[in-house]
Amino acid sequence: MGLFGRIIVGLMPLTPKFVINRVARRYVAGSDLESAIALMQKMEGEGACFTIDVLGEEIQNIGEARYFVDEYSRLIDEITISNLDANISLKPTAFGLLIDEDIALVNIEEIVEKAAINNIFVRLDMENHRVTQPTIDIVFKMQSRGYNNIGTVLQSRLFRTTDDINNIVKQLGGLADLRICKGIYLESAEIAETGYREIVDATNSCIELMLELGVYTAIASHDLPIINHTLESLKNNGFELGKPDPRPNASESKEGKGEGYEFQFLLGVRGDVRRKLSAQGHRTRVYIPYGTRWYEYSNRRLRENPDVAWHIAKALLLPWTNRR
Ligand code: FAD
Repeated sequence: MGLFGRIIVGLMPLTPKFVINRVARRYVAGSDLESAIALMQKMEGEGACFTIDVLGEEIQNIGEARYFVDEYSRLIDEITISNLDANISLKPTAFGLLIDEDIALVNIEEIVEKAAINNIFVRLDMENHRVTQPTIDIVFKMQSRGYNNIGTVLQSRLFRTTDDINNIVKQLGGLADLRICKGIYLESAEIAETGYREIVDATNSCIELMLELGVYTAIASHDLPIINHTLESLKNNGFELGKPDPRPNASESKEGKGEGYEFQFLLGVRGDVRRKLSAQGHRTRVYIPYGTRWYEYSNRRLRENPDVAWHIAKALLLPWTNRR
């Protein structure tokens, strides 16, 4: 799989931009906010709720962060006006985290505050290992200033993640709200699992721990061994569809949340699995990226993890294996 992925990535510079544009359309809502809103209004009928991401990351100078603050602010207004069941996901490095942590915090607080006023939850996406701790620290700082509408993402492939889950629960108790995913960045064997089986096992252990500790658990995986293991763990923790969160240490109920957990999917990936979970009564959320920087974003993601290129090629060539 890695080899196919690398071949596809190697061919990318030879591929005309309009071809890549056609492929990206499956995974990106469009270049502007209006396209994202229109898409979500169309998808609402599928029983999904949403988290919206303005494409972009790792700005080169701190002035660029203003674009993201303004665009997320406009996004919050639009979610509120259109009454969508949606929250937001943002990348701290787009707000300047790798340039100046203090300024990034001020920028992010502007969005978290506005989101809080509008009862919208803010998820800090997790980027590579350089910013794991600074990202978690932003959540702690915002929570200590009284903003309870914020959480982040942990990557199960990292060895540190079990400790992070325990520390976050220790600090935030019932306000701990985490998305757990494998992690898209291929980290070194010194700090992370690198084999498929080990990463799946690590993800399943994290999900079990989070459910056990009362965390609001967002499971972000399209991988059936993880989804099926989660369904089993939910049963073992006493969850029943349509019934309140049974855990004595359950996270405090918050605006726009399900009963203690939700499944999350990327736009364009395994829609059939998502729709099935939704029809069974599970809360399902679709991650909707939009923005003008879709080309740079797609290129970068593919170079970082060539497996993604293979998944995309398979989805296009064998569409019955992966419905939008
Ligand atoms: P895989 O084994 O990679 O995929 C299982 C199957 O899903 C594949 O066989 C394929 O059929 C399909 N599939 C998966 N990805 C794609 C794709 N791109 N295109 C087409 N088909 C695909 N990672 C981070 O590091 N930080 C984050 O903040 C973060 N947020 C995320 C938010 C959401 C909602 C989701 C769903 C993922 C997020 N990720 C994030 C990415 C995640 O870490 C994984 O890299 C990604 O989900 C692929 O892992 P998987 O568990 O789906 O399993």
